[in-house]
Amino acid sequence: MRVIVGIDLGGTNIVCGCVAEDGSAIHGVVSVPTGAEQGPDAVVQRIITAAKQSIEECRAAIPGVTVVGAGVGAPGPLDTRSGVVLLTPNLGWVNMPLRQRLQDGLGLKTALDNDANCAVLGEWWQGAARGTQITIGLTIGTGIGGGIIIGGRLYHGASDIAGEVGHITIDANGRRCKCGNYGCIEAYASGPNIALRAVEALESGAESSLPSYVSGDLRKITAQTVYQAAQAGDELALEVVRDTAKFLGAAVAGLINIFNPEAIVIVGGVTLAGENLFGPLRREVSRRAFKPAVQVCRIVPGDLTGVAGVYGAARAYFEQVEAGII
Ligand SMILES: [Zn+2]
Repeated sequence: MRVIVGIDLGGTNIVCGCVAEDGSAIHGVVSVPTGAEQGPDAVVQRIITAAKQSIEECRAAIPGVTVVGAGVGAPGPLDTRSGVVLLTPNLGWVNMPLRQRLQDGLGLKTALDNDANCAVLGEWWQGAARGTQITIGLTIGTGIGGGIIIGGRLYHGASDIAGEVGHITIDANGRRCKCGNYGCIEAYASGPNIALRAVEALESGAESSLPSYVSGDLRKITAQTVYQAAQAGDELALEVVRDTAKFLGAAVAGLINIFNPEAIVIVGGVTLAGENLFGPLRREVSRRAFKPAVQVCRIVPGDLTGVAGVYGAARAYFEQVEAGII
């Protein structure tokens, strides 16, 4: 069997796994804390150690396995051609030649791509959007990222920025976003901003059971708390989730009108909101987008929980070999 080591570099965790060439299996999944506070060199070393551990576990499970290369999904912006991560505020990196560093450390030809692009590519390859030619994905966690698959390949744009769907403006005079723009969907529907909208409503006097989930300490409310309370029927929490669906619906309707995809796949913590989110989201999209486009598009949660980025990073290796990038 031939495998590729897929590496998903997140702000909190590094996840590695050895993915079979045909995507049929994953072995040696290893997750370690990123430890960004220890500085760039320490993080690179932790990636190398985790990837080597994954390879070892895979070799123990499948004698005679061949490791053909590595793929890493990293926060961007980055340059897939030079293999350099240009800037990652979460990790404090500037112009980090990550591809070369991993290539040297692992002794394997390595591909570098955007982490959210990789998660969507993974869901397209082996997950919820399998079998489609055109898929748009959104990754919703601390921020909102995404990816665009056209003709069964990632679409990168002219300078590797394509797929930044979290920064679609839904309100020209809206909330300030971390990217510097105003009214981005990320400023409303990322995990921390879902929690923030609930806290704001509570602070302006809304009735809710939410404080009882956090012993009255509103700072402890997370998006997860909101989904839990919504599940239990809390009216304010349900309203926050419905508003989230409405904001996302506006952005997704725009994406559907532009790309006419077969699937919209949503990856990340927000999928824990379940039908409380997906029901209103689908209805919102139906109200807003062109009917022939809505009819052919399924809106689904990702199903490669925790390893979509690992699968996608492995797949990115093949894409970049084929494209002559590496
Ligand atoms: Zn933004």
